[in-house]
Amino acid sequence: MKEYNADLQMHGIYAGGVSKNMLIPIMANQARLKGLDVLVTADVFHAKWMEHLKQNITETENNVFMDKAEKTFFIVGGEVEDNKRVHHLIYLPDFSAAEQLREKLRGFGSLDCIMCGRPKLRLSAESIAEKVDEVGGIIGPAHSFTPYTGMYAHWNSVKEAYGAMAGKIFFIELGLSADSYFADLIEENHKYSFLSSSDAHSPWPNRIGREFNRIKMNKPSFGNLVKALKEHEEKFITLNAGLDPREGKYHRTACNSCFAKYSVQQAERFKWKCVACKGEIKKGVKDRILELATFSSETHPSFRPNYLHLLPLAEIIQIAFDVKQVNSQKVQSSWKDLVERFGNEINVLVDVPVIEIAEIDKIIAQKIEAFRNGFVLYDAGGGGKYGTPFICNSAEEFERKNMEMENAGKENEIKNQRTLKEY
Ligand code: ZN
Repeated sequence: MKEYNADLQMHGIYAGGVSKNMLIPIMANQARLKGLDVLVTADVFHAKWMEHLKQNITETENNVFMDKAEKTFFIVGGEVEDNKRVHHLIYLPDFSAAEQLREKLRGFGSLDCIMCGRPKLRLSAESIAEKVDEVGGIIGPAHSFTPYTGMYAHWNSVKEAYGAMAGKIFFIELGLSADSYFADLIEENHKYSFLSSSDAHSPWPNRIGREFNRIKMNKPSFGNLVKALKEHEEKFITLNAGLDPREGKYHRTACNSCFAKYSVQQAERFKWKCVACKGEIKKGVKDRILELATFSSETHPSFRPNYLHLLPLAEIIQIAFDVKQVNSQKVQSSWKDLVERFGNEINVLVDVPVIEIAEIDKIIAQKIEAFRNGFVLYDAGGGGKYGTPFICNSAEEFERKNMEMENAGKENEIKNQRTLKEY
């Protein structure tokens, strides 16, 4: 068996707010540069997107799908919204199962409007799960803890959400604002495999693969993915990787208009209305998880893989050069130099010795070393605004800035975070 890096949640051009570059050949090519082996086809219930998929993806052997250039594997799947606005990820054996499911969903919501890549269905989670099961697919909650559209925003448990179908749920998707540390504070999650996925709306490597899973499989196929998710004691999933939850847009409770942060007690006192701008205060993922938490400190089931906190390489370069735009010429050309030299982005972030990176750029090498050592502070995100990372150059700077942040009332709340060296 081989280990594959898989990012199993993203959207194509027919879902709202998606880059016009989210097309299979570009996605497949960018995945290789990032260091990803497997992507999801995304949005399989949309007729026009399905046409695009069939033109660009081939079945290279039974239930194994690749793009035409055979750069990247694909798992057939998509995301839907239910009648409570909760989002679900669906994975299917092949295109024919996707078409069968499409027929079953037709009549419960518009599947083909221009921005319906992620269709809104007038169906409960339980009914959707039944239909998915009938065609041999699997389903689970997407970005499970996020306000508005996460399962735990509306329900207190998987059983409440999926009813009689709860026994057929095998995975929980963490979303950008949570990680295994937070999700495993809730006891029922110890039954499930975790998926960490990018939910990318553009194919560039600061989006695609910003979260991914490392999965041991013979070949990347639906059958082997299900096996990995179901038989979690076999430890086929060897790593979850992704942003530090403090970078996520909904980590902290905050105003959705001016992004002022609040404690839950403050928000309740102000009746969830921002005192600064009268905007709506949205409960953050951290506070929602702490409400549901069974455990008060880090606890994991024995099969849980490590969670590796990563930053996209382009963001590290951006911080190193202190420039405003991640897509500036300077950042992009350094990114290209590093990836061309070392094969892909994940190699540069995790594996290549710093001394070799320094041959290309000393300042970037210094930032990567600091990042690998865990000298990163965050001004946490919330209310729809991403958090801001700050990479210190030394342990001393880290301690000093951390103290300054605490004194300023800004939190950097996960102490003793593991560093890359511990993986
Ligand atoms: Zn506000």
